[in-house]
Parts: sequence; structure tokens; C-alpha cells
Amino acid sequence: MQYLSRRSLNIAPYTAGEQPKERTYIKLNTNENPYPPSPRVQEVLRAFDAGTLRLYPRPDADGLREAIARAEGVKPQNVFCGNGSDEVLALSFPAFFDEGGLPACFANLTYSFYEVFASFFGVNTHIVPLLEDFSFDLSAMLAADCKGYYLCNPNAPTGIALPRETVEAFVSKAREKGRIVIADEAYMDFFGESAVPLTKSYDNLLVVKTFSKSYSLAGIRCGYAVGDTGLISALFRMKDCFNSYPVDAVCQAVCAAAVEDKDYREKTCTLVKTERERVRSELLSLGFTVPKSGANFLFAGRVILSGEELYSALKREGVLVRFWNKPILKDFLRITVGTPSENDALLEKLKEILR
Ligand code: PMP
Repeated sequence: MQYLSRRSLNIAPYTAGEQPKERTYIKLNTNENPYPPSPRVQEVLRAFDAGTLRLYPRPDADGLREAIARAEGVKPQNVFCGNGSDEVLALSFPAFFDEGGLPACFANLTYSFYEVFASFFGVNTHIVPLLEDFSFDLSAMLAADCKGYYLCNPNAPTGIALPRETVEAFVSKAREKGRIVIADEAYMDFFGESAVPLTKSYDNLLVVKTFSKSYSLAGIRCGYAVGDTGLISALFRMKDCFNSYPVDAVCQAVCAAAVEDKDYREKTCTLVKTERERVRSELLSLGFTVPKSGANFLFAGRVILSGEELYSALKREGVLVRFWNKPILKDFLRITVGTPSENDALLEKLKEILR
């Protein structure tokens, strides 16, 4: 079509997991939390004065940043909020990488949005394959000639998590080389070794988190970054080139209440973690290869049926999981940990299908 730019004609956008409308599924495909958000969220929504929506929200989400800073043990000026961590990650590309300049380095199997953002912003990439056991090849990453790294920890879709001391050693070596590390910790609360405390000693580390997973707030769209004020102010400059108010007023109030309810988050994360271990051991006994997961999902495969056959058979049975028709990934499924009864249904169906 003659009215479109070359960019909009040529870009290959990210494909989000299905959100089907045609029937009700046991939905284990987009790593949503099976439990509701903190009861304080409901209270905030009930008490919210719609009249205040007449006004624009705080452009820099100051109140929310203060609440996040208290919860994370940092200062508000070390926090940046965006419309989902996807937006924070998107803004990090132009903030830290030059168009056509030294590449952003990340793994071949990791969050696939990095590739899309890099392509959108004209940032070169240096892709490093995972090792045989699906772990990051950190030495190959350090040996790459690049400007910085996207380190998804726990990684998606494998679920494999790096301990904090491994991340620290990596960030320290990256700093010696003058490189930034963007640690995507979307799933970190299900593992519990966040690199946020390291941001006080390492000015080359930006940690990105989300309200979508451990806070059960995927529907509100909020994510944040923690790091040195130099990095954070670059994100603010990028935000103000796109949208002055990416975090709406309802979202700011809801997320501030959620982040203050640490006990509730920990309680639901524990439920998910307990189920994750139970489902993993069941999958292992069915013959699946399942790396140990630090996330709220399991990466399971290499059985007699392909990922696609399993995905389709499960979908017919009303259970939705995530499948990618790509090298290596095509032998696997990514299965979100649900409630005990959802997980029972998944395991039941899988047993029938494999029989
Ligand atoms: N990082 C990773 C690794 C993810 O899987 C997701 C969810 N798709 C995100 C970031 C983005 O999450 P959100 O935009 O909902 O904060």
C-alpha cells in the first residue's frame, strides 16, 4: 500500500500468546498468575474517585515510584515506570544502544521481543546460542564485541535462573568492558534472587520488573526499571519522546497498593512454586525433559510427540499451552503453572494423549 512507510511494511512484530474468545480454556499459555491480585487492589478500585480522571495522571508516576522504591530499598530517582515492562524494555533500546552501532547481545533462545525492539530501533544484535543444557553461554557473551546485554533471568521460555552471584560476576566483567547489562526479571519473584541490590554498586546494571506476573496484574499494564540515576534519566528522556503519561492514574494507585502488600505476593508466589515443583516431577515421570525452573512456567518436551502435536491435542481437550514452530523450541511446550486443579487437568490430559 502506497501510504505506508518502509518500516511498517517490513517489520516482523512480536506475536503475543493467544487470548481466545471462542471457548473457555484452561489457560496455561501466557504465564499469567492463577491467583487474584492483593485484596488491597480491590479496595483501591472501589474507593477510586472517577472524578479525578478528568485530569492527566502524574507524568512520572511519582507516588508509585515512591512505593516501589520503599519496597525495593532504593530511592525514587532510581525507579522508572512504564506501560508494562515491555514498554520499559522497548525504551531501553534507544536509551542505551545506537542505531547501526555496536550491537546488543543476547541469547538465541530468550524473550523474543528483544529481537523485535532491536529491529524496530535499528539496533544491531549479536546472538549467542544457549549451551546444550539450555543455560546461557556467559563467557561467549562476554567475548562478544557489543555495547551491552539483555539477560532474561529467569530466562524465558526455559525458566532457568541464574543465582545472584553469577549475575554479579557477569555485571562486574561487563563493567570492566564498559558495557551495560539489562536484567529482565519479569519472573524473578518466583526464584527470589533479584539483582536489584546490585544496582547500588554497579552503575551499568538496569533491572526491569513487572506487575504482570507475581502481582497478578497483567491486565493493568505496568512495569518498572531500577538502576543508577544516569540510566533512569535516559529512560525518562526516551519516554518523553513518545508519551508523557504512559502510566494512567488508576494503574498508579493500584500498583502502589499491590507493591506495598509484600506478604500477599509472597504467599501466592509460594503456592505457585509448590505447584511448579509438583508438576515438574510429574512431567519428568512421564518422560519429559524439563529444566529446573525459577519462573511460573515449565519448559517441557522431547517426548514421543512433537511440541505441535502435544499443543494441538491439548487444545482440543481445552488446555491451552504455548508452542513455537522454531528450531529447538518445536520439540517443547511452555506450560504456565496454574492452580492445583488446572495442573491436575493438564497432567490428566497429557497422560491420556501420550497413551
Ligand atoms: N519479559 C519477559 C521475559 C516476559 O515474558 C514478559 C511477558 N510476556 C515481559 C517481559 C513483559 O511483561 P509485561 O509487559 O506484561 O510487563
